Amino acid sequence: FLSLPLQAKMSRPVRARRLEGIDKNIWVEFVKLAGTYAKVNLGQGFPDFPAPDFLQEALRRATGENHMLHQYTRGFGHPPLVKALAQFFGKLLGRELDPMSNVMVTVGAYQALFCCFQAFVDEGDEVIIIEPFFDCYEPMVKMAGGTPVFVPLRPKAPKDGKLMSSADWQLDPAELASKFSAKTKAIVVNSPNNPLGKVFSRGELELITELCVKHDTVCISDEVYEWLVYDGRQHIRIASLPGMWDRTVIIGSAGKTFSATGWKVGWTVGPDRLLQHLRTVHQNSVYHCATIAQEAVAQGFQRELTLYGKPDSYFVQLPRVLQQKRDMLIESLVAVGMKPIIPEGTYFLVADVSAFRSDVPSVPNSDEPYDYRFAKWMMKNKGIAAIPLSAFYSEAHKNSHTNFVRFCFAKEDSTLKAANDILQKWKQEKTS
Ligand code: PMP
Repeated sequence: FLSLPLQAKMSRPVRARRLEGIDKNIWVEFVKLAGTYAKVNLGQGFPDFPAPDFLQEALRRATGENHMLHQYTRGFGHPPLVKALAQFFGKLLGRELDPMSNVMVTVGAYQALFCCFQAFVDEGDEVIIIEPFFDCYEPMVKMAGGTPVFVPLRPKAPKDGKLMSSADWQLDPAELASKFSAKTKAIVVNSPNNPLGKVFSRGELELITELCVKHDTVCISDEVYEWLVYDGRQHIRIASLPGMWDRTVIIGSAGKTFSATGWKVGWTVGPDRLLQHLRTVHQNSVYHCATIAQEAVAQGFQRELTLYGKPDSYFVQLPRVLQQKRDMLIESLVAVGMKPIIPEGTYFLVADVSAFRSDVPSVPNSDEPYDYRFAKWMMKNKGIAAIPLSAFYSEAHKNSHTNFVRFCFAKEDSTLKAANDILQKWKQEKTS
C-alpha cells in the first residue's frame, strides 16, 4: 500500500456509456454569453416580472406559521398540494382523481419528464418526438437507453404578405403514422409547444390518439404552458380524448403556471397503473421536493379553484397580459425586418431572421450554423439575447432549420420597450 504513488491519477474512463453524445448543451454556452453581453435577455424562458402577490404572500405565510413546513413532507407530494391538484385537474378532466395515486409532485416539470423516460423506456424502445421540441427530451430518452424517433411539424408557405402562424406548422398524418411500430413505447406531445407556440388542434390530437391506441403507446403529455393560450384558442387535454386517460401522463409546472420558475415545483397527473412506476423512479432518485414551496403552490391552486374561469383568476389574467406582450414584441421585430411566426400559445415566439444573412460575418474554419452565428452576433453587437431554433432539432435535421431564432416575451413592458428601442435604432442604421 505504501509503495503506491500518493498522487496516483485515475486512468480508466469514468464516463458511463449512457452519457455518450449528450454532454454538449446549448444552455451552458448561451446563458454564459447572455450574462456577458445581453442588455435585454429574451433568450432563456422565464418571466422577469414578479410572481403574483397571492403566491408570494402564501410563501411568506408558509415560512412563518408552521415550523413543520421546514421539514420533510410526504415524498410523493405534500398532502395539501396533491389534494388541491386532484381537485383542480379532476374538474378540468371531468373525472374523480385520487390525490395519493393519481398525482405525484416533482422537482419541476423537468424531473417529471425524467421520471417518465426512466419509468417507461427500455433498451431498444423507440420514443416519438415531434420537432421542433423542448431540447431535453432527446438526451433523456437516450439516457434511458431508448431511441428517439423524430417527426417534424412541416410549415405551410404563408399567404402573400402575411406573417406565418404557429398553426401553419403541421404534422403530416401519413408521415406520423409511418413512425409508429411495435417498437414505439411512447410519444411526447407538447401542447402548447416550446419553441413554436403551436397549440395542437382537436383534429391533430385525435390523429395522435388513434395511433397511440392502435399501437398501444404511452403518451407523455407536457402541458406546462396550458394556461398560456391566445386569441381565444383553447388548450385541449389529450388525456380527455377517448382511450387516452389510461395511457397518458400529464405534466405540469408551477414555474410556468404561477410565473415562479425558480421554485421548481412540478407535477404528474395520470392513472395509477402509470404513476406507480413514476413513484418508483422518484423514490429512488430525488425522493422529495421542497415542502414550503409545495405548501405555497397548494394555496395558489386553492385560490384558483374558487376563482375558476372568473376574471380575477390568475389563469385568466396571465394570458391576457402575455398576449399584449406578444403583440408588442411582434411589432418591434417586424420593424427591423424579422418575420415572426405568431404563436398561438406559450411565452415564446420564433422569428425568421434570414434577411440578415449578409450582415453576419461567417466564422473562418467553423461549420457553426447561421442561426447560432446570428444569435451570437445580435447578442454581442445589439445586446439582445435569443436562442437559435436549430437547438430544438435533432442532429440529423438541425441543418435544415437555420433561419430562425426563438425569443421569450414573458418580460416587463420596460424590458420589451428597451428591446424596441434597440430594434428601432438598428432599423435606422439599416436604412441610413
Ligand atoms: N417542458 C417544457 C416544454 C418547458 O419549456 C420547460 C421549461 N422551459 C419544462 C418542461 C421544465 O419546466 P420546469 O421549470 O417546471 O422544470
